[in-house]
Amino acid sequence: MLKDNYEAVEKKVAQACARAGRNPSEVTLIAVSKTKPVEMLQEIYDAGARVFGENKVQEICEKYDKLPSDIKWHMIGHLQRNKVRQVIDKVAMIHSVDSYRLAQEISVQAQKKNITMPILIEVNIAGEESKFGMSAEDTIQLVEEIAMLPNLKIQGLMTIAPFVEDAEENRQYFREIKQLSVDIKNKNIDNVTMDILSMGMTGDYEVAIEEGATMVRVGTGIFGARNYTIKER
Ligand SMILES: *Cc1c(COP(=O)(O)O)cnc(C)c1O
Repeated sequence: MLKDNYEAVEKKVAQACARAGRNPSEVTLIAVSKTKPVEMLQEIYDAGARVFGENKVQEICEKYDKLPSDIKWHMIGHLQRNKVRQVIDKVAMIHSVDSYRLAQEISVQAQKKNITMPILIEVNIAGEESKFGMSAEDTIQLVEEIAMLPNLKIQGLMTIAPFVEDAEENRQYFREIKQLSVDIKNKNIDNVTMDILSMGMTGDYEVAIEEGATMVRVGTGIFGARNYTIKER
C-alpha cells in the first residue's frame, strides 16, 4: 500500500516534469520519513526509495543503524550546532543551513572526519516569522561568506513555502527562489554550484517542479498523515 503511494508520487513527479519539458532524472524524490517507524521506511525502500529526509538528529541516529547502508539520509530540519557532530558522518546532505555559525560548525566537524559536506542554504522566501531561513536579500552575502569555509560545498538553495490550500499560491515564491539561485550562480563564486533547488512538499511539489525544483521533499503523500507527539516545525 505504501508502495502504491510511492509509485503514485513518482508518477506525478514524471508528469510534472513532462509538463515543464524537463527530464525526470533531473528531479530527486526525497521520502520524508520523520516520525514514521523503520518498518514503514523499509517498505518504501523495497519499493525503490534510496533518499530519505529527516528533521531530527536523534531520529536519524536511531534509524541509521536499522536500515540498509545504501540509503542517503538528508537532514532537512533545523539543526542545532551542538548536534552537528552526531550526524556529520551519517547524512549525505544538509538542506537547512541558515546561519554562518552553523556552517562554521559543520565545516569544523567535516574537517575532523576528513569529508566534504554538501549543503544547501535555507531561504525563508515568503519572509514568514514562524520559519527558519535567511531572507532573500541576505542570502547572497551569506553564500559568499560560507563559500570560504573548508570542507563544505554549497550546492544550492532550499525553501519551505507557506502552507496554502491552493498550491498555485506558492508558484510566485518558487519562481523567486529559482531566480535567486540563477543570480547567485551567475556570480561564479568559488566552491558554489547552485545546481540544486530543494523545494516542494506534498501540497505543492508539482508546481515546484514546474518552476525548477531538483529535489522535492514528500512526506504525507507517501507515508500518510503524521501523528505528532512532538512539536512540528
Ligand atoms: C515535514 C517536512 C516535509 C514534508 O512535508 P509533507 O507536507 O508531509 O510532504 C518537507 N520538508 C520539510 C523541511 C519538512 O520538515
